[in-house]
This record gives sequence, structure tokens and C-alpha cells, in this order.
Amino acid sequence: MRIGVDLGGTKIEGIILSPHGKLEQKLRIETPGQHYESILEALLEVIVTLQQQANKTLSVGIGTPGALSFPAEVMKNCNSISLNGRALKKDVEAKLGYEVRIENDANCFALSEAHYGAGAGAKSVFGVIIGTGTGGGVVINKALLTGPNSIAGEWGHNSLPSSARELIDNDRRCYCGRSNCIETVLSGRGLSRTHLDRTGEQASAKDIAKAAYAGEGEAIATLDIYIQQLAQCLATVTNLIDPEVIVLGGGLSNIKRLYDSVPSAMADYVFTDKMLTRIEAPSFGDASGARGAACLWPIA
Ligand SMILES: [Zn+2]
Repeated sequence: MRIGVDLGGTKIEGIILSPHGKLEQKLRIETPGQHYESILEALLEVIVTLQQQANKTLSVGIGTPGALSFPAEVMKNCNSISLNGRALKKDVEAKLGYEVRIENDANCFALSEAHYGAGAGAKSVFGVIIGTGTGGGVVINKALLTGPNSIAGEWGHNSLPSSARELIDNDRRCYCGRSNCIETVLSGRGLSRTHLDRTGEQASAKDIAKAAYAGEGEAIATLDIYIQQLAQCLATVTNLIDPEVIVLGGGLSNIKRLYDSVPSAMADYVFTDKMLTRIEAPSFGDASGARGAACLWPIA
């Protein structure tokens, strides 16, 4: 048994995961605003409550926005800004008195799908988040690929391939300070912006997908562009790591057309005559963060 906690901007979800990937316990509370001390306290409360429900002290993994920055081991790249610059891991360990593991939430998603979900059985899995942001994680032989910068899989802040840039009218500033990052077109906001630029209409990603499903011409045209851009951006990842499975996650992974259209659109850009990489829907949706966090520790 292992504990996994997903520390999100709106909720903190903790679970106890069995060795077979079954949820034994689940606890979900609202994230208490933006104050670091309150977030830390709420996080500890979830962990302590779950430990009390288990008969022995379990290992604890935590999925967070952003990542740990080395060597100082403080948080960086968090959209929950109050975590940035904070020694979250050390602070949690100091209160609990034992080691915990912390990983980026997109990495936890990839790990969860590679162990128990759509990527189970595959030797290499690229887990992609397309939602509020655009992140990703790489899992090889069930182990997360990590590096000195804690950014493995962060393809959302690569520049768009030029062929995908040509499909939009204007340069797009990214919050990271650069322009035309992949995230500026593949996030939910990116899709909305493409639709706005093309048609002058303001619509959410969800509404565009719904309208396209209902056969509305402009929405279909916007989604066609999105599919081309997603395919071209995934092709660059595929040429680099050749994953057996790409699992899509985040809000936009609910768009069913992606699974039919993206593989054939990728074929033109991947350096092979027959592309065997599978593009799969996620198995666990929202629950992936906490599941993946538990998987940061060996099966127990
Ligand atoms: Zn960026």
C-alpha cells in the first residue's frame, strides 16, 4: 500500500493505492486559497488522516504543479504561485519526520497511465496534458525519466514547429516569457484563441468541441487546425523518443475526434513509413495525479 496525494490549485486529493492499483481510500478537500502555510497545513492533514486509516506508516508521494529546482530543492514553474521558491518537500518532511517524494503533476499522470492505465504493458509512454496548460511526462520501463532540470517531457514550452506556426495568424506571447510556445496553441485557451482569430467569436474549448461534434462548419475548421498542430507537435516528440503509447490527458483529451484524426495527421511528419505509436485516451481522468504520485514509490 502506498499513499499518493495530488496537490492541485482547487483541490487536494489523497488516496491509498493497493499493489494492484486498486483505490483503498480516497480523501478530497478544497485547496485553501493561495497562502503557503495554509496549503502546507491542508496537505499535511490529508497525509496524516490517510496514515491513520492504514495500519502502518505508508510511503508518500505528492504530485504538484511545477517541479523541484536543484540544488536548493525549492519549487519552480508552479501556476499556484505561492508554492514557487518554497521548500515544500523539506517542509513536509520536517513536519512528518520521514521522507516523501514530490513530482510534477504531468509526470504523475504519465506514471499512473504507464503503470495501471492506457500505457500498461508498454515499454515507453509519453503522457500528455492538454488542458489549462500543456505538459508531459516520459516513462521508460515503468520508471519516470528525470533530469537535472526537472523538466523532462515539458514539450509545452518548446517553440511550435514552423508548419504549425503557419496555421495561426499572429504571434502568441507565452506566460513563460517566450513567444509561440506549443502551449499557446494546444492549451484550452490556445484553441479558443485560434477560433477567435479565425471567426471573431469568443468560445471555450469545450463549446468549440461541442459545436464541431454537432457539425458546425467554423468549429470543425478550428478543430481541424488544432488536430494538425497537435499532430505536428507530437511528431517531434515521437521522432525523439519513439514512444509505444502516447496517452492524452487534461480537458481536451475528451475530444473523441483526436483519437481518430491525430495518428493519420502525424504520419506525414514522423520519420517512418508506418507509424505504430498508439494514441490513447486516459483511463483514470482526474484521479491520475494521486495514483501517479503513489507510483513514485516501488510497489508495496
Ligand atoms: Zn512558454
